[in-house]
Amino acid sequence: MSLSRFKRIHHTLSFRLTLWYAVLFTASAGVLFLISYVLLSVSIERKDREIVEARAKEYAAIYQSGGVPGLQRWLAGTEDSQKPFVRLVSPINTVLFLSAPQEWIELDPDYLKFGIQRGWVRIPKDAERDLTMASIMLFDGAVLQAGRVTNSREVLLEPFRRAFFMTAFPLLLLAVIGGAAFAYRATRPIRQMVATASSIIQTGDLSERVPVQRSEDEFAELAELFNRLLEKNQGLIRGMRESLDNVAHDLRTPLTRLRGIAEIALREHPEHDAAQEALADCVEESDRVLTMLKTLLDVAEAETGVMKLARENVELRQILSEVIELYEMVAEEKGIRVTAKLPENCEASVDAVRIRQAFANLLDNAIKYTEPGGEVSIEATTNEKEVLVLFRDTGIGIAPGEQNKIWERLYRGDKSRSQRGLGLGLSFVKAIVEAHGGTVSVQSTGDSGATFIVALPR
Ligand code: ADP
Repeated sequence: MSLSRFKRIHHTLSFRLTLWYAVLFTASAGVLFLISYVLLSVSIERKDREIVEARAKEYAAIYQSGGVPGLQRWLAGTEDSQKPFVRLVSPINTVLFLSAPQEWIELDPDYLKFGIQRGWVRIPKDAERDLTMASIMLFDGAVLQAGRVTNSREVLLEPFRRAFFMTAFPLLLLAVIGGAAFAYRATRPIRQMVATASSIIQTGDLSERVPVQRSEDEFAELAELFNRLLEKNQGLIRGMRESLDNVAHDLRTPLTRLRGIAEIALREHPEHDAAQEALADCVEESDRVLTMLKTLLDVAEAETGVMKLARENVELRQILSEVIELYEMVAEEKGIRVTAKLPENCEASVDAVRIRQAFANLLDNAIKYTEPGGEVSIEATTNEKEVLVLFRDTGIGIAPGEQNKIWERLYRGDKSRSQRGLGLGLSFVKAIVEAHGGTVSVQSTGDSGATFIVALPR
């Protein structure tokens, strides 16, 4: 996994949820283990202590009824190997009676003293055994101590600890995997929303929707709201486009009529200079508005798929040569050198009229936005699937921040306001090329020329 991919995962909500889940799980398992461990350890001790105290009481009763001889008699019947530890100490600390099996003989006397002070004591003997001893103060001030060999506490607790550590890692792994799976599943609606939003931004296709969730949780509600928002936006944009198209339709007729009238007036009354000039302006302006409306309608038609394309196999080299010829004079007047590299056999199935208009727009822009003395080159290349046509210029370039806006209708770059134009050329090119199933893109560092690349399927 690459470092950047890990960094991305590391910032995801799923990763953080998994991490929290694993930490919480580990902490709760640890606390649970600790509580059980302490409880088990306390209950082992309590049980051993109760037994040894019961014994001490039993020996005390024997002593009280029969004194030291009574104790001796009572223990005389016990086998040597079964002999319990019994010790009777007088108030002045002399031992009055002692029955001590082998393991008690080596015992540190300090433990015996400590046992008297505390009432009971547990002394680790070896890996498997402990010695547990209880002391009782008797009516005559003497102390009776009774002890027994018990299982080492370690021996009892060790398997519990081992079991915990052996199951802890697989459990933790399970918690991480389970947590990751749950987090991934829970955040799926968010990922779907992100994917839909990015796809809309990239493709501009407003009909995309987030898949509908079957559950009724907050995410499903959010996804539904998101879809409703998209629906509403799409409706608004559709409405705006339709009204723009309607305006274009509605304006075209009266403007055509206006232009006609001005033309007739110009033809019929050529003697009035001022009127002639005004009427000429009127014709020119009407032409400008009509061109704008016509282009707007063409773009709308191409974008909505209504435009009828008369497609046939056309040699693009031919079309490009015609377009270059058309702009030869303009380029020459501006002192711009136009060069072309057009290989043979650049055939593609296109509507020749529309594609010629699109190429003409791109060449027009290239010349328009290049300073005198600059250069424009047109190059065509082919591969199995498509024909690529590149329009490269040494002009003012397009800032990276502007590069995705130039395709919008009526958009004009800040640097280009001094030039003639309607801001419709590139939206027309894009609509026409895409109606052919192709793509158009731009490359520019911002201030040293631009390259427009048209890809048309063959
Ligand atoms: P117009 O040229 O009428 O302004 P277009 O739709 O053809 O409208 O272009 C939109 C904008 O894109 C222009 O205003 C300009 O800022 C920018 N542009 C287009 N072609 C080029 C080019 N070859 N070099 C620099 N900028 C360009």
